Amino acid sequence: MFWRSDGGSLNPDEMDVGAYILSEYIPAKPLVGNLELCFTGEQQATSEACVQLRCGEALNFPFARPDSQPRAVAIRGSKVLVAADKATETKRVVELTLESLFDYEPGDTIGVLPSNKTGVVDHLLHRLELTDQADTTFHLKLALNCAKKNAKLPAHIPATTSPREILTHCLSLNFVPQKQLLSALAGFTINDKERSFLACLSSKQAAEHYQNLILEQGLLFMDILDLCENCRPPLAFLVEHLPRLLPRPYSIANSPLEAGNQELRVIYSVLRRKPGVTTNMLEAKAERSTPQKPTEVVIYPRVSNAFRYTEQDLGSNQILIAVGTGLAPFLGFLAHKEKLKKQQPQQKTGHSWLYIGAKTPEAILKREQLMAWQESSVLERLRMCHSRGESPSYVQQMLAEEAEDLVKFLLKPETVLYLCADGAKISKSIANGLSLCLQKALHLTEEEASRQLKELKTQGKYREDVWL
Ligand SMILES: Cc1cc2nc3c(=O)[nH]c(=O)nc-3n(C[C@H](O)[C@H](O)[C@H](O)COP(=O)(O)OP(=O)(O)OC[C@H]3O[C@@H](n4cnc5c(N)ncnc54)[C@H](O)[C@@H]3O)c2cc1C
Repeated sequence: MFWRSDGGSLNPDEMDVGAYILSEYIPAKPLVGNLELCFTGEQQATSEACVQLRCGEALNFPFARPDSQPRAVAIRGSKVLVAADKATETKRVVELTLESLFDYEPGDTIGVLPSNKTGVVDHLLHRLELTDQADTTFHLKLALNCAKKNAKLPAHIPATTSPREILTHCLSLNFVPQKQLLSALAGFTINDKERSFLACLSSKQAAEHYQNLILEQGLLFMDILDLCENCRPPLAFLVEHLPRLLPRPYSIANSPLEAGNQELRVIYSVLRRKPGVTTNMLEAKAERSTPQKPTEVVIYPRVSNAFRYTEQDLGSNQILIAVGTGLAPFLGFLAHKEKLKKQQPQQKTGHSWLYIGAKTPEAILKREQLMAWQESSVLERLRMCHSRGESPSYVQQMLAEEAEDLVKFLLKPETVLYLCADGAKISKSIANGLSLCLQKALHLTEEEASRQLKELKTQGKYREDVWL
């Protein structure tokens, strides 16, 4: 079953691929295979947690701190912060406590190495007629008749591996299939209708169908295979052309002073239908983890940037703006400030203002904690709004309501504005809201305000973390 972006569903059993075949079309130039698999006949012993680490130094982990490698760490606990709600389209939000093997500051991020779902991998192994060889080791080599100049073995595949291992840990299965790949898949089915469908979908003439099925309805590579049940691409072709399964970044949502650097917390949201690869994996692992037998995830610390709150920031002011799970890093900022204030009571502390938006009051993460921080003056100002319910309200509207105050506070030399939102669109609307505040408070034109925002960014007074 495929879930469309509008919430409806598309059933592969009911979908007739024949309806998408044009009478005339020219297929895109197909991708070709340049690799061969050489099976050794040996069975692989159980696969380790971090398979991609076996690829050697040629393989980088994006934004990894220079001194650190991905490591398996224990899941120490998990807690549902927000329950999913169909009526308001609220996503389930979970807080995960992990063992930590490195130093960090609030605002830092970790990379989490995902793995594909066992059921999906088994299904694909079956389709590729590799169930019997699923755990047999092989190595890759360039095909004898390889026509491509500079053809290379993919850096994200270990020298010796097995079909199950690479389909689980190294290759992305949920990706948007490009036209050249579709054209190549047409060559791997014995069914005429499927072949015509795939070839046609890759053509310029069927651009409208590609737009509709792939870009709008969101059919991914595995969905296409489900639709074309006779399509059996060779594993060597998939190893060459499927993208690498990449780590996903998550913000640390606590202060190291709370856990003595021994633990860290991350907060993630899960799509109700068609959850993502990493969030789905985290959900499954969290469910299986017990204090006696904790499950593990592979993580690494990412390089820090200016989006963090350290001891040096205790005397400065912050304007924190977040939507939804975007509050996660600020929970770390504020917990850190609270701890530092207690440790250094004689130290002058700056003021923190927080603007947070969520679909409903229940969807505001750690609402009680936020109110307690307001009580104890860790937070001087706390503004919350909810986009669903009786009176729709957005963060931009809250900012506009106190534009003069906000701009005055922002322009103080010791104030820094931090914005964290899960999506470029939200981040852009809030930036527009801030521009309106500048226009209103400082009597600027739209152009002048946008120049000033740019300047604030250059000066490091406006720092953004956008989760794409
Ligand atoms: C610097 C940075 C920090 C981040 N910090 C966090 C964090 O603290 N918490 C957090 O939850 N995420 C965070 N993200 C996003 C995170 O890295 C993943 O992109 C997200 O969890 C989905 O990963 P996935 O592998 O489950 O989904 P994929 O398999 O990659 O999902 C495919 C597509 O499904 C959609 N999708 C999947 N899950 C969601 C979701 N929950 N909400 C909306 N769309 C979704 C997306 O469109 C995505 O492109 C951060 C991103 C960046 C760049």
